[in-house]
Amino acid sequence: MSFRRVEEAPDNVTALVRVDFNAPMQDGKITDDTRLRAALPTIEALQAKHCKIALLAHFDRPKGKRVAEMSLKPIAEPLSRLLGSPVAFADDCVGEVVKAGIDALAAKGVMLLENTRFHAGEEKNDAELAKQMAALGQIYVNDAFSAAHRAHASTEGVAHLLPAYAGKQMERELDALDSALGNPKRPVLGVIGGAKVSTKLDLLKNLIAKLDKLAIGGGMANTFLFAQGVEIGASLAEKDMADTARQIMDAAKGKCELLLPLDVVVAKDVKPHAEARMCGLDEIQGDEKILDVGERTIQRLRDAMKHSHTLIWNGPLGVFETPPFDQGTVIAAQDAAALAKSGKLIAVAGGGDTVAALNHAGVAGDLTFVSTAGGAFLEWMEGKPLPGVEALKR
Ligand code: AMP
Repeated sequence: MSFRRVEEAPDNVTALVRVDFNAPMQDGKITDDTRLRAALPTIEALQAKHCKIALLAHFDRPKGKRVAEMSLKPIAEPLSRLLGSPVAFADDCVGEVVKAGIDALAAKGVMLLENTRFHAGEEKNDAELAKQMAALGQIYVNDAFSAAHRAHASTEGVAHLLPAYAGKQMERELDALDSALGNPKRPVLGVIGGAKVSTKLDLLKNLIAKLDKLAIGGGMANTFLFAQGVEIGASLAEKDMADTARQIMDAAKGKCELLLPLDVVVAKDVKPHAEARMCGLDEIQGDEKILDVGERTIQRLRDAMKHSHTLIWNGPLGVFETPPFDQGTVIAAQDAAALAKSGKLIAVAGGGDTVAALNHAGVAGDLTFVSTAGGAFLEWMEGKPLPGVEALKR
């Protein structure tokens, strides 16, 4: 993928940097500074070039109005502590006063601008708002991959008005995604789990066209099993999606080997430490629910990982929030992490519950790359162009 990197940016300019500071906040204080830390390498790289830095970000969903509780002001102080230098705050993200404040910064100075979504034009990708943003700097750097699936003024519009660069976090994310799906070392194995087929249809269709093998687990596997005539008892399934599941299985033939569960863990209730049993697909009782994959299924997945060079993973294999139905996900995640750590497997995972599941397994830090960008990661896995990334392409 061809885009300009921050290292290629000129020295001594004012850089308008789009970051993701949509951090969890309670009583006006952020409770997790992961997203702030993620922005540091880009800010520091620009400071090393003696640039002035104006940070653009959104917070929550104020829907085009000023909402006091959705101000980015509480971010300035923790960011300044992490950076080890002052961070000024401007109570708007456009306008003459803001511009004067940025111009008055010393070289390497940083100013955080107020929530872009306080302007209705942000989410509409309004050309005038993008123009006003562009007036604040000489170059634009996008470091917010997680917002790149949205064509907003601060993620897309402004990128066309200034020389545009990918920030370090954006670059890491794009490089990881490229190594997993764009230009992967084959064979490539996918693991897709989660609750429903209907929310991941585009994902499944794109993956069967690109992967060598695809293991399907979680609630969505139940729909596939049902479509094959397996009696799935009281399991979660979208029976009206059976035809779609069959079409996906047909489309995969000869291209991508689908690995559906061979055995399952069932219980009557989804309760912690509920009475559960492992059984074959022909032994599920009418009042039982499939809540995890069984041992043979896990073993086959472990073998598939061992024989793959690249793994891309989204979605838990079972109801991982409720032990013992976390076991399939935990064992597979630990295996993926061990293979990644020993350099045998490029393991990339992401999207919503996947990060929580990998954290639960205690291995999120050991995979090659774990994306915390929910929607953007999924849309990228679906093969959709991300407007914020497209706008950076040369
Ligand atoms: P998703 O957001 O689509 O990735 O779905 C994640 C959710 O799927 C988690 O909350 C899991 O508990 C749930 N899930 C996984 N496997 C099953 C299953 N066999 N039955 C019901 N829910 C499941």
